[in-house]
Amino acid sequence: MNGQSPRELDVAIIGGGAAGLATAIFSAQAASNLRIAIFDGAAKLGAKILVSGGGRCNVTNKIVVAADYWGGSSNVIRRVLSFLPVAETVRFFQEIGVELHEEEHGKLFPNSNKARTVVDALIRAATQLNVQIRCGRRVTAIMWESERSESGQAERAGAFHLQIANETISAHVAVLATGGLSLPKTGSDGGGYLLAKSLGHSISPTCAGLAPLLLDGAFHTALSGIACDTELTITITGEKPLSIRGMMLWTHFGISGPVVLNISRHWSRARLQGKHVVIHANFFPPLDGASLERRWIEFAAKNPRRRMDALLGETLPARLSEALLTSCGVAPNTQIGNLARDRRRRLARQLTQWGLPIRDSRGYAYAEVTAGGVPLSEIDPGTLQSRIRPGLFFVGEILDVDGRLGGFNFQWAWSSAFTAARGITRFFSQKSGLGE
Ligand SMILES: Cc1cc2nc3c(=O)[nH]c(=O)nc-3n(C[C@H](O)[C@H](O)[C@H](O)COP(=O)(O)OP(=O)(O)OC[C@H]3O[C@@H](n4cnc5c(N)ncnc54)[C@H](O)[C@@H]3O)c2cc1C
Repeated sequence: MNGQSPRELDVAIIGGGAAGLATAIFSAQAASNLRIAIFDGAAKLGAKILVSGGGRCNVTNKIVVAADYWGGSSNVIRRVLSFLPVAETVRFFQEIGVELHEEEHGKLFPNSNKARTVVDALIRAATQLNVQIRCGRRVTAIMWESERSESGQAERAGAFHLQIANETISAHVAVLATGGLSLPKTGSDGGGYLLAKSLGHSISPTCAGLAPLLLDGAFHTALSGIACDTELTITITGEKPLSIRGMMLWTHFGISGPVVLNISRHWSRARLQGKHVVIHANFFPPLDGASLERRWIEFAAKNPRRRMDALLGETLPARLSEALLTSCGVAPNTQIGNLARDRRRRLARQLTQWGLPIRDSRGYAYAEVTAGGVPLSEIDPGTLQSRIRPGLFFVGEILDVDGRLGGFNFQWAWSSAFTAARGITRFFSQKSGLGE
């Protein structure tokens, strides 16, 4: 403290979601003397955590690697994940009273199967560490006032002045933990990007990630509620095609389910960049058209009277088999032995390369994450401190990192929070080393 301006806080955390709460806890654990406060615009903390994982909160995954994420440099993502790997995350949750168990695809959930357990434990831990939690306190602007060294030359640190209603709060360190644009009704409405920009940062263009997709036409409406194992391949002009396999759910508006959510960010991003993009569905993965046809030929040699709807129905739900056959101009009761060679070949190709008439993403209101955000190139990877404003840190979804479905986005929140907390303690130890 140099007495030049009133500083009520050491660390002001803007946003009290997963990343903001964890940053407060890790920072307070590392340096108990820091005066830390969280400011959140929402009336209560944790709205997004409470709806996560179907209300059960998929806290992390058994195995998390940089390849589970998109956005900024994978080297930076790898480094941040290494500061708080999964084993340490599990230990951290144990310490704050949340035991986790593993489910399908390595997903880790609280033993209570209630997201509330996670929210309550984080708030309790922060409160016990004397973190001030101030809800209903939306930060509308941040000003940075630089300090000069005694020689009056180098700009090395400063104070952040946060505008909250009619009040101005000052702090040595500001942490932007405001999330992105996904599910804006929880309070994450992109306001944090404006704060970041006002402090000199740029924002990589954003789009909805992990969102359902809307389809044109009426084919999907009759299939609403049907789920099937599907491989989706996205082809974007100038890029290598990408295939993802998983469950696809047909809905009244189009398609959803894990495989759709995972591929949606690539579709939205391509559209954002004005690129031509198509997605094809393969209903018989891992077979391609030629191998599916070969399988049918072998089958037909022994079972020529087998009906096509029954044959497809061995792999697909009956309603879907029938709709696909009808749409391809093949009567569902056609016997496989009676299917002409050309038609058989065309059908096998259609069922493994089914063009999906995608109109749009269902958007941020239904997205689990935001792709895009503050570029990692503007942040120090070892501390998540801004390269532009000393004392400014970024954590969680506001950064240009988005994970696939399965606990990866929360792991990014925990690991980025831990990394920033390291940076914050280092910031203050360097500051006190300078005699302040
Ligand atoms: C429906 C749904 C289900 C999900 N399920 C999972 C899951 O099971 N596993 C998983 O890993 N991920 C899941 N996610 C993603 C995960 O929830 C997010 O990636 C994560 O919560 C991001 O945390 P964050 O703290 O960065 O941002 P947020 O959780 O978005 O928190 C940001 C906070 O900042 C506050 N805020 C914003 N602007 C201001 C401002 N100007 N002033 C003050 N406060 C402000 C907001 O009110 C909010 O509380 C899910 C997301 C959704 C929408």
